Amino acid sequence: MADYSQSTLALHAAYKFDTQRTISVPIYQSTAYSFEDLAQAEARFSLKEMGNTYSRIKNPTVAILQQRLAEVEGGIFGVCTASGMAAVFYALLNCAQIGDTILYSNKIYGGTQTLLAHTFPKRFGIKTKEFDIDDLNSLENLIDDSTKAIFFESLSNPQIAIADTEKITQIAKKYGIISICDNTVATPFLHKAFDFGVDIVVHSLSKYINGQGNTLGGAIIERKGLNPLIKNNPRYKPFNIPDESYHGLVYASVDEQNLPIYSFRILAEWLKNIGATMSATSAWQLLQGLETLSLRIQKHSQNALEIAKFLQNHPNVKEVNYPGLANNPYNALLKKYFINEQASGLLSFEARDYEHAKSICNKTKIFKIVANLGDSKSLIIHPASTTHSQLSQEELKNAQISPSTIRLSIGLEDAKDLIADLDQAIRA
Ligand code: PLP
Repeated sequence: MADYSQSTLALHAAYKFDTQRTISVPIYQSTAYSFEDLAQAEARFSLKEMGNTYSRIKNPTVAILQQRLAEVEGGIFGVCTASGMAAVFYALLNCAQIGDTILYSNKIYGGTQTLLAHTFPKRFGIKTKEFDIDDLNSLENLIDDSTKAIFFESLSNPQIAIADTEKITQIAKKYGIISICDNTVATPFLHKAFDFGVDIVVHSLSKYINGQGNTLGGAIIERKGLNPLIKNNPRYKPFNIPDESYHGLVYASVDEQNLPIYSFRILAEWLKNIGATMSATSAWQLLQGLETLSLRIQKHSQNALEIAKFLQNHPNVKEVNYPGLANNPYNALLKKYFINEQASGLLSFEARDYEHAKSICNKTKIFKIVANLGDSKSLIIHPASTTHSQLSQEELKNAQISPSTIRLSIGLEDAKDLIADLDQAIRA
C-alpha cells in the first residue's frame, strides 16, 4: 500500500475485496485449491507460476495477515507460522545447518534459550554461543567463518532488557551476517527494528498482536533489500547451490524474479517439508487483534508506567524493573529506540524473598497466574518456578532471574484497580 502510517496499514493493507466484497477478511478454510487444468498445476509446482497449491505452503487468509504484518513492520515479505517458537526455529534454521554457529543474546525468552542452548547443538549439530546483550564488545570476538546468524530480542522477556540494536546490526553488517530480532514484546508500534538495520524480524503473534489470549501464531518478516546479502555470499552456501530435494533449484536464483530469497526458502523448504503452518481461522483471529494494536499498546504502556511508579515506592518491594522509569539502566536506550518512549506492558519486580513472591502470585485477584504476556487482561507469573524452571542455576543467573522475581504483564484494566490489587497482595 502507499505511504500510509502503521495504524492505517494495520486496518487495510493487503486486503483487496473478493467477489462478495466482505468488509471482514474472508476465512478461506480450505486445505487445497482446484487448478484450472493440468498445465496450470504443472506450472505452479515447477514455480513457473506463483499461486495457491496447498494450504501448508500458502492460504489466502494467512497470506493477507503475513503481508499486512510485513507492511506494518516496514518489511518486504512475511511468513506466518503456527506459533512464535516455530517462527524462531525456522528463522534460525534458514541461516544455519550442521557445523555452523548461531550467536544469541543472554537475555531472551526461556523457550528460545532452551532451543538455542540445547536443541540446536545437541539435536541438530548447530553450535550456539551466547553474547552479553549489555556488553556488545564481546560480540565481535565470537564471530568466525561459521557464524550464520545473530539473534536477540529488542525488548526481552522476562528480563526487560532493551538491545542496542544499531550496535548489533553494525557488527552483523561488517561481517555480512544476518541479524534476527524478536520484536514480540515491543511490537512494531513501539520499535521499528528495520529502521535500525535489522535483517529479519520474528514475532510471537500469540502476545500483543493477538491481545485476547485466544490464538497462537508466529511471523518471520524480511526487510527490503536483503537479497544481495545472501546471493553469492559464501557464508550462505545452501541458498546458492542447487537443492536436490527441489529438482536442483538454487534458492538465490529467485532474485531474478524479484522474489525475497530468504522468505522463499522458508516457504519452499521449511514450511513445505516440516509444516507448522498457521491455520486460516488463526490468521483471521490475529487480523482482528492487529487492527487495534496501535491503540492497545499505548494503554498497556501507560498503565505499566503508572504501576511501575507505584511499585518503586512500595516498602515491601526490593526493586522494580521497567525501562520507562527514569532510573532504569535501559531508559536511555528506550529514548533512543522506542516510539514516544513507551515501554510496553511487561515489568518485573523483586519481592522480599521466594515465599513472598509465591504468596503475591496466589493473593492477586485481578492479575491471573498465567504463563503468557500481551493479553488485554493483566497476568502475573513467577518465572523461576514456571517459564524458566528448565534453566540451570547458572542459566538463571545469566538471565538475571532470581527466586523472588515476579513478572507482570499489565493489561487494559483501570490502573487504579490494578494498583489496589497488587497492594493488598504485596502487603498480605
Ligand atoms: N518470543 C518471545 C519473546 C516470547 O515471549 C515467546 C513466548 O512467550 C515466544 C517467542 C514463543 O512464542 P509462542 O508461545 O507463540 O510459541
